[in-house]
Amino acid sequence: MANEIVVELKDVKKIYPMGDERIVALDGISLKFVRGKIYCLLGVSGSGKSTLLNLIAGLEKPTHGEIIFKGKHHIQKMSEKKLAIFRQRYVGFVFQSYNLMPTLTALENTTLPLIFRRVPKKVRSKKAMQMLKAVGLANRWRHKPSEMSGGQQQRVSIARAFVNQPEIVFCDEPTGNLDTKTTVEMMNLICGIANQHNQTLILVTHNLELARYCDEVIHIRDGKIEKIEDVSADKVEIQFGGIL
Ligand code: ADP
Ligand code: MG
Repeated sequence: MANEIVVELKDVKKIYPMGDERIVALDGISLKFVRGKIYCLLGVSGSGKSTLLNLIAGLEKPTHGEIIFKGKHHIQKMSEKKLAIFRQRYVGFVFQSYNLMPTLTALENTTLPLIFRRVPKKVRSKKAMQMLKAVGLANRWRHKPSEMSGGQQQRVSIARAFVNQPEIVFCDEPTGNLDTKTTVEMMNLICGIANQHNQTLILVTHNLELARYCDEVIHIRDGKIEKIEDVSADKVEIQFGGIL
């Protein structure tokens, strides 16, 4: 279906009580995210980007408003247990600091989301190896995070984020710790895999360069949407040779 809405936010507010004060982190956000599009959430530090991401991913609940997944799952109404299942099924994450398990190999780290979903062991290893191959790390599957470069660790975390074929992948400053060349490689990987499977990407950054890989830029300031730009006409061509 064209323009299928994957997630919709209606007048979402997030207020943190701090002693006698109230910190308004998000102040009435209404947005729609469409299947297969790549979004860039752009704003300075403290503007509310991570809060917004955490709410959409069901890691935190809004103080006010609605977050609706695929037209029927109301995130704010789900129990913690249901939310955990929901995240396993629909959502993948890529973090700035990779967040890999230090004692596990690249293959084991990539397998984790499949273990949580109780995929049989043989299938898990096969899928995880396919993903490692797609991110160019087939020959590093035995390596632990401390035995890999930052870029290689981020490749593993990309493999882990996509191994379940989630509908939405969230990336919070995914290239924040990487040099320019590696940043380009990572963006090609993340966007290349998402395009191949028509997945929705929500990319949080303060780096305007990353917007070139996106269809829409959502500018956020002081917890409000400042403007939404359609930048799909200026998108760079994604270089991705991986086969999944
Ligand atoms: P960004 O990711 O754009 O840097 P955040 O979403 O982390 O911004 O934060 C938005 C605002 O909400 C900031 O003013 C921050 O201090 C505040 N904030 C975020 N999380 C909390 C929390 N758990 N408790 C209190 N205030 C918070
Ligand atoms: Mg942040």
